[in-house]
Amino acid sequence: MRLSDVLSKPPKREYIQVDGFLKGKKGNIGQQVDLTVGNIALNYFCSECDDLRTYYSKGKLTAVFVDKDTISIDAALECGSCKNCTQVWFLVHSENDITSVAPKIRILKLGRHLSEKVAIYGTKYGEYSTLLDKAELAYNNNLGAGAIIYLRKIYEKITICTAQQMNIQYQQYEGGNPKNFRELLEEVDKQCSIIPFEFKKNGYKLFRELSGLVHGNCDEGLGLLKYEALNENTNPPAMLGRIE
Ligand SMILES: [Zn+2]
Repeated sequence: MRLSDVLSKPPKREYIQVDGFLKGKKGNIGQQVDLTVGNIALNYFCSECDDLRTYYSKGKLTAVFVDKDTISIDAALECGSCKNCTQVWFLVHSENDITSVAPKIRILKLGRHLSEKVAIYGTKYGEYSTLLDKAELAYNNNLGAGAIIYLRKIYEKITICTAQQMNIQYQQYEGGNPKNFRELLEEVDKQCSIIPFEFKKNGYKLFRELSGLVHGNCDEGLGLLKYEALNENTNPPAMLGRIE
């Protein structure tokens, strides 16, 4: 596997071994190294094409050593169809020697500076798209509490919308919010399986945690950690796919 393969996938917590890409470099802080690792390819919603498109990195990628085991990589990406541009930034950390022949790496941070015509989800998921985009952008900017709140809003909207479609009655506060969200979620899920199995087996634990975070104290660090777990385990777009 090459570095570009890892950069072309969503960040994961596990370290992945890749072909050496900084072999024999000193790794002094601030040192710049041109990389020969292939192109980065990431999917974004392109408003010019009005659909999801693959954006490819243009030009030579350069790494800057942030410390001995960490590098920063900037990339300009271009839509494969219409040449719309956007920028991303990666902080890549290595578990072993990053200059070795087989470094084990992971994306520590993926920063996106999305241009106006580019979005993560665009209009693909209707009214949920904006919330999904906001959750991701908050997460990208280390605003863990914000990311969690948007995520909770998405789950709530999906659940309520499904309940309405299936004529499931529930107690509401003024304004329409359910009085017992978890109860409603379980009821909806019983009739129309919207929650992935991996998630259910823990007795909806992640949802409980999500509620706890929104209603209790949620610091940014904890929010970021939980957002990763929630997003990974529930995948809001996959849930939306189940209702459509
Ligand atoms: Zn395009």
